[in-house]
Amino acid sequence: MKLKFKFWFGNSTKHIIDNPIWLYTKKHYCPECRGELRRVDISKVVNSKSPEARDYDFSAPGGGFYHGNVKFIWTELRCSRCGKQYTVKEIKKRENY
Ligand SMILES: [Zn+2]
Repeated sequence: MKLKFKFWFGNSTKHIIDNPIWLYTKKHYCPECRGELRRVDISKVVNSKSPEARDYDFSAPGGGFYHGNVKFIWTELRCSRCGKQYTVKEIKKRENY
């Protein structure tokens, strides 16, 4: 039998790159205190069999899927004044893109 998909076992790292261009071309400010927001990289290890796995995309390049522990890395925005952190989606909603 021929396997339809490639599988990656063990520890993998996946960068979630869905950052829109406005994230880089504009300055963003904290909705709470109007401090300037800075981009920070967030990482989290999620096991493909854990309940929270459904919130993450385990697809791998070439049409396969990651199995086991996958380290997801994505960008969030942190306020340089009050330290609050926002997801790109939250800022998008607040700034009405
Ligand atoms: Zn703030």
